[in-house]
Amino acid sequence: MSQMLITNGHLVTWNSSNEIIENGGLLLENDRITAIGPSQELAAQHPRASQLDAQDQLVMPGNICAHTHFYGAFARGMAIPGPAPKDFPDILERLWWRLDRALTVEDVKYSALVCLVDAIKHGTTTLIDHHASPNALPHSLDQIADAVETAGVRAALCYEVTDRNGPEEARAGIQENARFLRAVKERSHLLAATFGLHASLSLSDNTLADCLDTAQDLNSGFHIHVAEHEADEYDSLEKYGKRVVARLADAGLLGPKSILAHCVHIDPAEMALIRATGTWVTHQPRSNMNNAVGAADVEGMLRLGIPVCLGNDGFSNNMWAEWKTAYLLHKVVHRDPRRANGMDIVQMAITNNNALTSIFWPDLPIGKLAVGAAADLIFVNYHPTTPLTAGNLPWHIIFGFESSLVTTTIVAGKVLMRDRQLLTLDEAAITARSRELAAGVWARFEKLS
Ligand SMILES: [Zn+2]
Repeated sequence: MSQMLITNGHLVTWNSSNEIIENGGLLLENDRITAIGPSQELAAQHPRASQLDAQDQLVMPGNICAHTHFYGAFARGMAIPGPAPKDFPDILERLWWRLDRALTVEDVKYSALVCLVDAIKHGTTTLIDHHASPNALPHSLDQIADAVETAGVRAALCYEVTDRNGPEEARAGIQENARFLRAVKERSHLLAATFGLHASLSLSDNTLADCLDTAQDLNSGFHIHVAEHEADEYDSLEKYGKRVVARLADAGLLGPKSILAHCVHIDPAEMALIRATGTWVTHQPRSNMNNAVGAADVEGMLRLGIPVCLGNDGFSNNMWAEWKTAYLLHKVVHRDPRRANGMDIVQMAITNNNALTSIFWPDLPIGKLAVGAAADLIFVNYHPTTPLTAGNLPWHIIFGFESSLVTTTIVAGKVLMRDRQLLTLDEAAITARSRELAAGVWARFEKLS
């Protein structure tokens, strides 16, 4: 049994009532936290445990990202030929649905590695990914899973089924989800899987029925984009005479294992369906602002009791940037500085994101410092210039934290970054290869234009 004692930290527990334990210590045994207490007391009780001195830094649970796309990594700095896309459907067709077709097997792997380097450096230790690579589809999730295992973070993966490239590819997408849902059971416990769907507007009723059949056999929920732009709702109303969430409910796709990303344009009846079925929603404010799709009624959903989580939709794996954006976005949209209170952000990024992980790791509490919880931790070199308490921590995070303050990242008791040095991934080699591969993707992207 491997034992590691973390000493001299200011422990931010993010338990149901958040606490900051001064001069605290944590005992990690294998992949879990097995003791919490005063640093010196724990050191005296466990003299043989190897020690890692937190040197007066904050010790916090690692951040969780509820919705991301590793495959988008190579879009950074890429030009889109022609006039700038005018709206989100235009962005989908001219950027994402071309970029994903330009990806090879190796691109899939390196896109993931680039994002995993970024995640470890920014203190994000659990990620829920949504993948697409139509021309490198079979076994693509294995490429990502290999990268995740090498990196040592926690990730839940899926492949986005869509009819936009024809029925054969839709079937291949279904098969990839089914294959990986079975295969993941034999892999590292850091990995989990769900069943990915693109969005209502690119999925026929027949395909939805096939997805349900397959996922039910494997006891899986779904991970799908919902009403990111009005186009998704108009498409569903025109073709099926009902709104998107009603369509998904009728298709049997909602429930406590299913995740709906965005929900920017859903109406109150759709919210009621989401609430009644115990379905999860994820909010990605940076992406919503970038795509100019609007702002979801996050506060309304939270008041209804819908578990709204926080993701990044492929933006940097710096979740505190997402906290800050959520905090600002809803204030400007409503012209009301009382909107998106710091505790609303905590409800999404901490409480609901933590609870969301139970779909994938049902026996392992993730995202809190507690005995029995996952040993997924970060050290944050933050020395407040004003008093810091458990009560005002959200505002310190929003106004004071930078992701570069993360110095050490630990997942499942294993140190992945120590004093800003990555221990599982060779950042320089990954960066160099990524730059070469991205140039190839950009050249193929131009030809697809
Ligand atoms: Zn997305």
